[in-house]
Amino acid sequence: MSLNLLNKFLVFFFRTNKLGELTLNQVGEKVCISGWLEFKRGGFFTLRDSTGSCQIVCNIEYKLPEKESIVNVEGMVRARPEKDRNPKMKTGDIEVVCSNMTVLNDCKRRPFTVSKFITTKEETRMRYRYIDLRNTAMQRNLRLRSSFILKLRRFLCERRGFVDVETPTLFRRTPGGAKEFIVPTRKPGKFYSLPQSPQQYKQLLMVGGIDRYMQIAKCYRDEGAKADRQPEFTQLDLEMSFTNQDEIKQLVEDALVESWPEELSSISAPFPCMSYHDAINLYGTDKPDTRYGFVVKDLSELLKDITIFQYASSLSIRGICFTDGCEKLTSKQIKTIQGNVRKQHSLRLTVVQIGENKKWIYPGAQDIFPVNTMDQVNDYLGVKEGDVICLCANRQWQKACMALGKARTMAASYYEENGHPLWDKDTYNFLWVEDFPLFEIDDEDRLHSAHHPFTAPATEDYEHLVPHPMEATKVRGQHYDLVLNGSEIGGGSMRIHDAATQRYILEVMLKEDCSELEHLLEALESGCPPHGGIALGLDRLIAIMCDALSIRDVIAFPKSTEGTDLMTGAPCELSQVDLDTYKVSVTKKENTNKED
Ligand code: ASP
Repeated sequence: MSLNLLNKFLVFFFRTNKLGELTLNQVGEKVCISGWLEFKRGGFFTLRDSTGSCQIVCNIEYKLPEKESIVNVEGMVRARPEKDRNPKMKTGDIEVVCSNMTVLNDCKRRPFTVSKFITTKEETRMRYRYIDLRNTAMQRNLRLRSSFILKLRRFLCERRGFVDVETPTLFRRTPGGAKEFIVPTRKPGKFYSLPQSPQQYKQLLMVGGIDRYMQIAKCYRDEGAKADRQPEFTQLDLEMSFTNQDEIKQLVEDALVESWPEELSSISAPFPCMSYHDAINLYGTDKPDTRYGFVVKDLSELLKDITIFQYASSLSIRGICFTDGCEKLTSKQIKTIQGNVRKQHSLRLTVVQIGENKKWIYPGAQDIFPVNTMDQVNDYLGVKEGDVICLCANRQWQKACMALGKARTMAASYYEENGHPLWDKDTYNFLWVEDFPLFEIDDEDRLHSAHHPFTAPATEDYEHLVPHPMEATKVRGQHYDLVLNGSEIGGGSMRIHDAATQRYILEVMLKEDCSELEHLLEALESGCPPHGGIALGLDRLIAIMCDALSIRDVIAFPKSTEGTDLMTGAPCELSQVDLDTYKVSVTKKENTNKED
């Protein structure tokens, strides 16, 4: 073995110092440090490890390897001359004078530069994820994720008596489980499904007496390409027996307050609550961002006689006022908002600019709107010169509100983009949304569960639990969502715990085949306590904590927006031999880039 090679192994026997932890107190001390060569110039270079980086002075003639090579240095800490100190660097007061250097592994490929800021195209970052993980932001995000999850687990298990139970990820398909991934087996025609969540298992654990269950659970949903969704994602999954909605909400609040990272501005409980109706009515969405105003107002009475809105019978007209919109939004952005509302909601957005003396600037305004109507709307919306108001009409109040809700969120992000942010960066507005309808109705008048079929109906609404779709939509579910800064980060419910009601919901209301859920129905008949729970989407929650643009920035090895792994090339084709083993035949190859 050559001496150099021997050295490579020997260095591991010495205690190595952490680069980011070297301080002035160690001046004169001998240190042994290892890391990635980050930067080199003349007789200097910097080495980086997970704790930070440090400047090395290399008086001896060494040929320095390429950046990102792994290097070991033995040397002495010395104080930098006053003029050379770098206050931006954690170790900026010192440097290490190298007495011996060993290249432990040469870096032969460096598809992009590792840096403090993410500047590389996401596709390239994902292709070489192991390099991207070295970036400061990714290091911080994954470490924050780890410590947050540890705190959650400790809080729940050590302080609140929860039991961490792993549930299977090879599961059976659930009725209506169109979004499930299937797993072929060697048994012809037999498939597993990957669970969308441990919902059934956690309810079965309640029947089994594990009365406080928690799990950091992997869940799978084959939902095609979505910007901020992953086909596999992680939930904090909880379930409790003999509980109620208030207790679950309080538990989640306590867990979040206790585990909240110290480096972020603190949060406090209780979180405010809002009904689903109010959320749609005031914010045009079931996940309102309450960090800013721009609340939707009902103008139906004031504007009911205005001809331009009379295309919709039994009219609902809503309006919203964007304060200083004339200055803070560009006309191109306003057009984009209008275009988006037209495209996504098939509704027209009437945009009025407020001029001097609150005069409406809108083509033909004088002929369309009587003066006193404009005055009344101005008063009701509280407008002032320079504001922009948006009006929208529809037969259904929800549709008018939701169109304005879209305009509201788009406008808010434009305000931010244009340098007029509406909220402080470190504001965390949690909000419970509750009283959701239990069912949704599709174009063919069929009912679907708004969340999942195990949610208990509100006790006061049982009279509407009849198989007439319009009547059934009046039933509210005992469901609650947790929203943070306009993102849904969790949802849960009190469950149906008696078999007869569960069977009725499945068979009569949802027209599902119960045979696939016999195991659950049998369990409900076997002494099942009342129970309820919740799941928090950890990827999204942590992305908000890290101020990350995408959930992919808080997942070590995420999938692309097309649901593929750009590093390993998964999913991949199977050989004919493998297909035969799994008794799978491929009938037709589809363009995999397309969403089905
Ligand atoms: N299983 C549900 C979900 O994944 C959450 C719950 O009801 O606990 O969304």
